[in-house]
Amino acid sequence: MSDPTDVPEPIDLPNDATLMERVVNLSKRRGFVFPSAEIYGGFRSTYDYGPIGVLLLRNVKDAWWRSMVQLRDDVVGLDAAILSPPAIWEASGHLSNFTDPLVDCRVCHERFREDQLDDRSTCPNCGATDSFTEARQFNLMFKTHAGPVESDSAVAYLRPETAQGMFVNFANVLQTSRKKPPFGIAQMGKSFRNEITPGNFVFRTREFEQMELEFFVPPDEANRWYEYWCRTRLQWYLDLGIPEDKLRLRAHDPDELSHYSSGTSDVEFLYPWGWGELEGVANRGDYDLTQHANASGERLDYFDQAENSRYTPHVIEPAAGATRAMMAFLLAAYSEEEVRGETRTVLRLHPRLAPYKVAVLPLSKKDTLTPLARDVLGRLQPWFMCDYDETQAIGRRYRRQDELGTPYCVTVDFDSLDDHAVTVRERDSMAQNRVALEGLVDHLRDRLA
Ligand code: ATP
Repeated sequence: MSDPTDVPEPIDLPNDATLMERVVNLSKRRGFVFPSAEIYGGFRSTYDYGPIGVLLLRNVKDAWWRSMVQLRDDVVGLDAAILSPPAIWEASGHLSNFTDPLVDCRVCHERFREDQLDDRSTCPNCGATDSFTEARQFNLMFKTHAGPVESDSAVAYLRPETAQGMFVNFANVLQTSRKKPPFGIAQMGKSFRNEITPGNFVFRTREFEQMELEFFVPPDEANRWYEYWCRTRLQWYLDLGIPEDKLRLRAHDPDELSHYSSGTSDVEFLYPWGWGELEGVANRGDYDLTQHANASGERLDYFDQAENSRYTPHVIEPAAGATRAMMAFLLAAYSEEEVRGETRTVLRLHPRLAPYKVAVLPLSKKDTLTPLARDVLGRLQPWFMCDYDETQAIGRRYRRQDELGTPYCVTVDFDSLDDHAVTVRERDSMAQNRVALEGLVDHLRDRLA
């Protein structure tokens, strides 16, 4: 039923700063991501997720939870506290080691992470040479006080990663879940880091969301599981639509590894500024459980009854950023096409990630169509996240849904009143099909599953 002149012609977009600008603009214009506290002039590098962004971010997290928890019988979930006592961070090593080298330019007073400077003799802000101070180690944890008294004994930290919640609950989960190694604990939620140089939109922010798995294994199985999780995590991004040429797995060089890690690989994405981390997969040995066992005096090991032996499991950790992944999905999905001499912007998001799955669009706002359109919406809402839009010309409403990444638009027109059918328009091909109302839910469910 589609008009052949509608066939979209892809426009080749360079993967550079202009792409980033387009995605940031679209995010603001369509309600994905707003700069935080904007009416007060903004709050540097913090962002709010708008009506569409909150759906996309939730879908990214749901897709992760589905593949990491729901579809497995060897992983359970956890939601640990964000506020945590210094003892945790003392034992984990964060209080002494979770630092970045900070340098100041003596001329313009701008601050930088020394390890991120391309040229350590020239200030990238003002161009001054040899103007940097000696590097000093800056701890990235946000410190606060729990309770009304700001004394040393009331110090608490906002977690800089979700991982420690899984380690300190290892024994609780082992006892209550009836799991045994190899098994994992998965958690997603907010983490906080006082980053020296936040930036690149939501790539690096001070408040962000993580999705982490701690997978506990018998020590002699650690390498095998490390390889497994590297492959599995790369595949997750591919399955959700990031093209192969924008993803790679990069093993850390020996000098990049933390002292306890026998192997770390990053899943990297080709951002507009080059390759960068999307997720890290680390073979952490028995470091974390041993540290917490020693510091707390609690037993954090596993007794294997069949073998009559006790051991401290090794840990494989795939650690991803939800907000960073959302940005990568947006960048990978953004496309522009030419249709009838006009530019069409379309987010080719995987249907599982698309904020709205279906938009219901009555052809006209006339009272005669509204009851049927509302009836169609009511049939679809229990199954799919839907949008309903009855203002503006239909072409403009289609374009808006294309920019939101909505896979299907359902148009209710005057014929619908007689033939009890609607037009279903597909986002990518723009093909239109007439579908009977009775079979509409099944038609869409087959295509969106
Ligand atoms: P980077 O080298 O980019 O600072 P990292 O190696 O310190 O990251 P991890 O501690 O391994 O990061 O955290 C796991 C994941 O959490 C990262 O791969 C990233 O997706 C996400 N993440 C870490 N820091 C931030 C941040 N400041 N803003 C947004 N996401 C972050």
